[in-house]
Amino acid sequence: MQTAVLTQRNFFNLHKSAPFIDWVIVALVFLSGLLHPSPKVFYDSVLRIFLIITVPLFTFAFLIYRFSEKYGNRIQGERGKNPPIAEEAFGSARAMFVVACMAAWPTGMYRIGLPTGIVWTIKEMGLNWWLVVLEMYAGIIAVDALTYWKHRLLHTKMFFPFHKHHHSFRDPTPFAGFAVGPLETVLTFFPLLFICFPPAKHFAPLYFSAIVGFVFLNLYLHCGVTFSWLEKILPRIGLNSSAWHNVHHSDVNANFGEVSFIWDKVCKTTRADYEQKRSAAIS
Ligand SMILES: [Zn+2]
Repeated sequence: MQTAVLTQRNFFNLHKSAPFIDWVIVALVFLSGLLHPSPKVFYDSVLRIFLIITVPLFTFAFLIYRFSEKYGNRIQGERGKNPPIAEEAFGSARAMFVVACMAAWPTGMYRIGLPTGIVWTIKEMGLNWWLVVLEMYAGIIAVDALTYWKHRLLHTKMFFPFHKHHHSFRDPTPFAGFAVGPLETVLTFFPLLFICFPPAKHFAPLYFSAIVGFVFLNLYLHCGVTFSWLEKILPRIGLNSSAWHNVHHSDVNANFGEVSFIWDKVCKTTRADYEQKRSAAIS
């Protein structure tokens, strides 16, 4: 009984304090630059990375939004009202600011000549090219597992207050693709910090290609429409699709995978009507 009361109280407190805690996290990741070997280069990197990410991100979000609304098949029927694009864009911009602060750590170190885990040639990796590809593939599976379990954690009563912002967009547009809270942003993107450690080698051409691929996949997952050719291709290569992830926005307790559906299949957290939606999308 006592445990139940304490749990409810904790939930209630976090429910009220989560927005404040999230802004504290934004401040802390920004202020962490004061501990960087070169704070000046760190803050310069934050600004540059933020612009390098957000300008293309919002440009493609806008283009995909306009294209998908015109040519895609709406999953939840015609929109009853205009989507809250300004709120979605604000959420995504705040998350990308947190990402920029984290990415500025290895970027700043690289810019001032300190060793990092970023390498540009197969030779520097010390592996055959096929082992580099295999390592990258294993890395994607590991990150997918990390994001799946992070997402399950954020759907517990205690932590949902840190995730509910993303679920305020039940019928999202691409602008909501990265509209997640700061705590969730840190839990999703903290592997960026591994680059600070030289032994953790990242083959830059494949690494950045995978990130760009993930960004475009995420924009499609949140566009609110399906394209039959993408719904055919993506599941065949193990990746989520718009029909898949839209179920998570319309019914929050299923389809937690953020890159692939592998862990949803393993843990039986899929929604049965996804297959109907996908069939409708590709027919
Ligand atoms: Zn969720």
